[in-house]
Amino acid sequence: MSGTLSKLKNAYHLLKSIDFAMLAKLSEKVDLPKVMASLAKMDDTQLNGLMKMLSSGGKKKELPPIEGDFYDLGSKLNTEDRALQLKVRAFMEKEIKPIVNEYWLKAEFPFEIIPKFRELNICGVTYDGYGCPNRSFLMEGIIAMEMARIDASVATFFGVQSGLAMGAVYMLGSEAQKQEWLPGMQQLQLIGAFGLTEPEVGSGTAGGLTTTAKRTGDTWVLNGQKKWIGNATFADVIVIWARDVDDNQVKGFLLRKDTPGFSVEKIHDKMALRIVQNGLITLTDCRIAEADRLQNANSFKDTAKVLRMTRAGVAWEAVGCARGAYENALAYTRTREQFGKPIAAFQLIQGHLVEMLSNLTAMQTMVYRLSEIQDAGNLKDEHASLAKVFCTLRTRDVVSRAREVMGGNGILLEYNVARFVADAEAIYSYEGTKEINSLIVGRAITGFSAFV
Ligand SMILES: Cc1cc2nc3c(=O)[nH]c(=O)nc-3n(C[C@H](O)[C@H](O)[C@H](O)COP(=O)(O)OP(=O)(O)OC[C@H]3O[C@@H](n4cnc5c(N)ncnc54)[C@H](O)[C@@H]3O)c2cc1C
Repeated sequence: MSGTLSKLKNAYHLLKSIDFAMLAKLSEKVDLPKVMASLAKMDDTQLNGLMKMLSSGGKKKELPPIEGDFYDLGSKLNTEDRALQLKVRAFMEKEIKPIVNEYWLKAEFPFEIIPKFRELNICGVTYDGYGCPNRSFLMEGIIAMEMARIDASVATFFGVQSGLAMGAVYMLGSEAQKQEWLPGMQQLQLIGAFGLTEPEVGSGTAGGLTTTAKRTGDTWVLNGQKKWIGNATFADVIVIWARDVDDNQVKGFLLRKDTPGFSVEKIHDKMALRIVQNGLITLTDCRIAEADRLQNANSFKDTAKVLRMTRAGVAWEAVGCARGAYENALAYTRTREQFGKPIAAFQLIQGHLVEMLSNLTAMQTMVYRLSEIQDAGNLKDEHASLAKVFCTLRTRDVVSRAREVMGGNGILLEYNVARFVADAEAIYSYEGTKEINSLIVGRAITGFSAFV
């Protein structure tokens, strides 16, 4: 009885919501008794849906914009920086997004994007001179985030080129070395790589490098292997870190790609960052001129200066990866319907979305402040390490929730979240694992080193 009453009530409200002039018009076009008979068969949910549709004039409900920058940090940028941010975003949306899944699947690098990147003029963005734009570290971070928001592999390629490789030359090279390499690298006419990790030495590179360098006159002879080296398969120059057998200190060398004794093998079958071409390098009696030794790299402390700068960039990349996953997942939940309504309307789904946004917002505010510290010239290893640990850890949580709210489609590449889930794993491990970066922070706050 109460069911019938509620149906009548709904039908009454429905009729009330109909304009009678419109009804007269309608009766010329449709069979009204038939419509009424169909209405009578509808249940409450269907009638409610119809009422909502009619009262909105058939228009779809207008939803809030999808925005991963919830605290509007973008508004803190000056006009010039904001314009560059939006330019990079438009580039990534237009040039990278449409091709990225295909290349990720093939595990190949889209070389055609290199000239397009050149036009953006964002390589070596913080450096002064050598054709570099001399912008802030904040700008550099925002660029890394915008890239990773669409694809973390492209952001990584760029991080290796602009951060690790150019950074090593810029921070530790002689004037002649800077003049020789930086303008071409800034224009992406010359590609760089950074070879620190070895097959048997990853976290322990500070004290344990096994690649050796022996000086004889004006020539160094290098022997050893380097693993995981991004861009190595096609780089023109690779910064190789090796232990000088005479003084036991780590030194940096600019290895040119055609040097005899140098060979590189692509690492196949990665489950993350598949677009990045990681190489296993072998150096067999590789002869490098003293003029190609990084003139201001005298110990691992100098290597660490480069890593400090780039770790801050990796934290921003993690933010981008989380932001891309969150925004794609949010969009999905608003269109995917189950039980007659968008899944975004379910409380448990909203719970996931809010957890994701909280993490994302915490990460963004953290890296924003980190860049401010860096721009003020006060960045310490532990500042960069804390952000690297926190952001890559939280990103894993965000991408996994993004996948979860998408159900089965969350594991399909075409829905643009699965790739972020996989790529977050690599970002989590490279440029210092969670443990190693935690130990750096731990040492800074306790005064005790717990590495060994
Ligand atoms: C996709 C990708 C790209 C990369 N690109 C580059 C590149 O361009 N150039 C380059 O030089 N390297 C690169 N790397 C290497 C990367 O920096 C290393 O993978 C990373 O430093 C970890 O070293 P590992 O893999 O040898 O792990 P390991 O050092 O073997 O560590 C294994 C585990 O042991 C833990 N562990 C180690 N020591 C301790 C300790 N003292 N206390 C507690 N736990 C510890 C680690 O945290 C980790 O969980 C890349 C790696 C990946 C995956």
